[in-house]
Amino acid sequence: MNYLTYPLKIMDITQGYDDNFTHKRHSEGNLKDYPIDDACGSGNNSYFYCPCDEMIVKKVYGVGLRASNTIWLESTSPVVTPTFTDFITIMVVHPEDKDLRNIYKGKIYKRGEAIFPKGADGFATGPHFHITLGRGKMLGSGWAKNNLGLWILKTTEYNIKPEQGMFIDKNFTTVKNNRNLNFVDLTNEPVVNNTYYTTANLNVRYGPNSTYKFVNLLAKNTKIEVLEINNGWAKLSDKEYVSSIYLTKNKPKLYYESKKTTAALLNVRNKPNGNVILYRIPKNTTVSVIKEEHNWTQIYNNRWVYSKYLN
Ligand SMILES: [Zn+2]
Repeated sequence: MNYLTYPLKIMDITQGYDDNFTHKRHSEGNLKDYPIDDACGSGNNSYFYCPCDEMIVKKVYGVGLRASNTIWLESTSPVVTPTFTDFITIMVVHPEDKDLRNIYKGKIYKRGEAIFPKGADGFATGPHFHITLGRGKMLGSGWAKNNLGLWILKTTEYNIKPEQGMFIDKNFTTVKNNRNLNFVDLTNEPVVNNTYYTTANLNVRYGPNSTYKFVNLLAKNTKIEVLEINNGWAKLSDKEYVSSIYLTKNKPKLYYESKKTTAALLNVRNKPNGNVILYRIPKNTTVSVIKEEHNWTQIYNNRWVYSKYLN
């Protein structure tokens, strides 16, 4: 699975988001984000590594200027974090001019690739990374000034605390100082194998009981990924819950794959390119992939969506 993991080989956080220095004005302002500074310890292994299957450089700011060098990286597909599954944008500050010479908008990195080493460009007291995370894709110029005068990351969704956005892969990252942030360890996390199969046609709802509004239908024998199961309800994402009674770990002989929708609101039609819109499903909804015809995907009996908006 496309987990988002901590991007550094040594976690040595020197300032959390609510420490008394400048970060407090990020985390108490409006807009707010939740930066950490990480100095990666004193060794040489101090690169920022691509922390998910693939990221694209969206923007590089500050090279040759007095301002702090800043880089925006965006995942090219949804990532799994401890609290949601969606696109992610990471803003990183302070790498040196010389280390950004080969970094440009549109460049793509694969998981584990070294992107740039830590630096002290701008007004840093010593080499480190200043890192903030936002759910969703980069929005507009990628940042905005908050009411306390600091530049804050801007994405299509909202900014998130680092421990809510990244797992720690202990096979990759050695934790020297976590500054009391409560990161989830990937290797201990039960979501590692959370593949289930539906044993019936299932209503997907916005919340964990049957009074919540209907989102969509999943066909029987669809392979899905579950984030957690509580009180008989399985959470597929922030806005998708199904009854866990109709899920099994046993792989059926024949099953459908599932995909996630990528459009803000996707029309579900009665047939390929049909002119009857039955309902609309929100972004990041899980759908069964029963069959594909030309550019259309069947997600249920007599229900079709445009394949371009599936991932
Ligand atoms: Zn910082």
